[in-house]
This record gives sequence, structure tokens and C-alpha cells, in this order.
Amino acid sequence: MTKPELLAPAGNFEKLQAALIYGADAVYFGGENFSLRAFGDNFTREEILQAVEFTHALGKKIYAAVNIYARNADFDELADYLKFLDTAGVDAILVSDLGVMTLARKITNLQIHVSTQANVTNFHAAKFFHELGASRIVLARELTRDEIADIKANCAAELEIFVHGAMCISYSGRCWLSKFLTGRDANRGACTHSCRWKYNLVEEMRDGEFFPVASDERGSYVMNSKDLCLLPYLGEVIKSGVSSLKIEGRMKSVNYVAGVVKVYRAAIDSFCENPDAFEIRGEWLDELDKVAHRPYTTGFFLGDGKSTEIYSTSKPKRSANFLGIVREFDADTMTATIEQRGKFSVGMQAEFLQPHGEIFSQTITEMRDADGVEIFSAPHAQQIVKLPVDKPVEIWSLMREPT
Ligand code: SF4
Repeated sequence: MTKPELLAPAGNFEKLQAALIYGADAVYFGGENFSLRAFGDNFTREEILQAVEFTHALGKKIYAAVNIYARNADFDELADYLKFLDTAGVDAILVSDLGVMTLARKITNLQIHVSTQANVTNFHAAKFFHELGASRIVLARELTRDEIADIKANCAAELEIFVHGAMCISYSGRCWLSKFLTGRDANRGACTHSCRWKYNLVEEMRDGEFFPVASDERGSYVMNSKDLCLLPYLGEVIKSGVSSLKIEGRMKSVNYVAGVVKVYRAAIDSFCENPDAFEIRGEWLDELDKVAHRPYTTGFFLGDGKSTEIYSTSKPKRSANFLGIVREFDADTMTATIEQRGKFSVGMQAEFLQPHGEIFSQTITEMRDADGVEIFSAPHAQQIVKLPVDKPVEIWSLMREPT
């Protein structure tokens, strides 16, 4: 059995570092234009060069999302950007538009992965894209396990599927709702997540009167999808022979990326080491519960047609408060140097999520600033704080307030 790649989102350089350090084999990012996250913290050209260097130094892979549906006017700039990506050394680009794919094949040597946005739902389409030169197909999220197996059996291209993260209520993001309601086009990276809004019914003669579409007294979120989590079926996913398991979330936090990647890294390794003894560990489920998420669903994977929407609220469950990143650790004095990300103070409980080691918790008993002066709280973003820790702690551990 071949171990599949674990592919994680890199919303910015810090998230890219976290994803790789916590165990992703590969990351995907968007540049300032042409990817489907126009409001994300996207990478400048200089940052792309830095990201490629960092990723390749770890022996891992980096893919660029160029998955907008392009207009004629985009192509001059696109040509320049694609050539830049080729020279920069990214390992593949993700495309959905046939025009972008054709251009990339003509003017670069970039590997091409067909984005989920292209909605490949059958092996005929997968083979078509493969024959056009795509080395990998990211399948539509709307497929069952049997359909995935059928595509695998009939198409020689690598297959990638989403295993974790937010879902769209429309076909893998090909959606006009946001554009219709706000003018912002999801197919050009500007989705306003209109499917998550609260909807009411209005009778045309009763201006301003909103009648609830009753799910409960709070209203109805009829298009608000639950979040995908295929961890309980990971063994089956791996046995299906797909090449890459993808985590959604370029807009998610460092805490989210690190926590989810760590869980899937451990689970994939555990399964591949001994499939017969594999079982889902409680600590993995606990960690997936600590990151911000909506209730989980297996989506379309089982083909059981169970409800995948949440009607009561569109708000994700709050995650454990993210307090800071461990930048240094002095084993002689058992002191960790933390870069602040959320306010913390003496007396609070802190939990450390480590890239490799176990999670541990302790009380913050003492704090000093960068000059060694005693302080009692750290209210400023990126403030450097030194504090004693009960156990050795790895660099890049995340300090959080337990929920
Ligand atoms: S509005 Fe919702 S369904 Fe449509 S693209 Fe955005 S997230 Fe997806």
C-alpha cells in the first residue's frame, strides 16, 4: 500500500511553516491574483520564492492555486505569472479553467493538477483531463466512495480528495449565490459565503415583514453545510489508492492548520504502519474538536444521503484560544520564549500543542518580557514573553488556553 500525501492549506507564510512542521507532505497556496481566495492573506512573488525555498529545504512539495475562471483580459498577466511560478520552482499548479491549463502547457513545464472547481465527477472527465496533460485530478467533493474507486480503476492520473474542512452547498464551489446577492464572484475568488447567512421569507405585499422559514426559533440556515471530516473512514480512504488527502482552509488560523495536520499525520502513519491494528484514537477526535469547526459530516463519501446542513446556526464552534508560538526553549532553565498571539497572564492555564510530542497543560506561574523584567500579562500582539515550563517544549509548539 502506498502512503498517500497529506496536503495542507497555506494561507500565508506562517501557516505554511506550521503545516509543514506539523507533518504535511505538501502545501498549496494562492498568489495575489488568480486563486480562489481573493480576500486571503495571499503570497507576493517574493513570498512565493521564500515559500518554495522553505518547503524544498524540508524535502516537501508546494502547489500554487491558479484556479479562477479567467476572462480574456486576464491572460497577459496570467502568462507572466505562470512563467514566474515555473521559474520559482513550484511543484504543480491547480487549475480549473481549460484556457489557463492550455496556456500553462504551452509556455511552462509546470505539472498540472485539475482543481476541484473543475467538478470532475466521473472517470471520463478524469481521463480527458489526464490526456490533456494533467498529472493529478482533485475530485469533486460530491462523490461517494464507490464512485471514487471507480474513477481510480479507470484513470491512470493521480487522484486527490478532500478529507477535512468546510464544504460548499453548491457543486464544489461553482456557485453564483455570492455574485447574485453581493456582486462578489466565488468563481473569481471573492465569495462572501452567502450560503451561511440567515434566511427569512418575505411576502411581496408586506414590505419589511420577515417570516421565519422555521427550523427553530432562531431561524433557518438552509444552505449552511456542516464541515467534512473523513478521519473515521481514513483506512478506507487510504485503501482506495488515492494519492493525496487534502485539508481545506487557506483562510483558517495557524492553530487550525497545526492541529488538523498533526491529527491526520499521526492517523495516516499509524494506519500505514499496521492497518490491522489501526483504530481512531480519542486524542485525535479531541484535537479536531478543539479547532474552530461546524458539526462534522462525512459528506457524500458514504452515499447515505444523510443531512449535511446545520439549520440552527451558521457560526462555527469556537476553538481553543490561541495564545502564542514557542520560538525558543532553554533546557537549562526550562524557559520557553513565546511570541504572543492572544492575551495571556500569570495564573492562567496554558496548553502546549507540539509538532511531534504530546500535548501538555500547566499553569502560567511567572512571566518576563524580552529584557527579563517581570510582567503579569501580555496584551500586545507579537510581544515576546519568557515563562517557565513544566516539561521540555518543542520550537513551534502552539500555546493555547484550554477550552
Ligand atoms: S456562497 Fe457558499 S456555496 Fe457558494 S461558493 Fe460561497 S461558500 Fe460555496
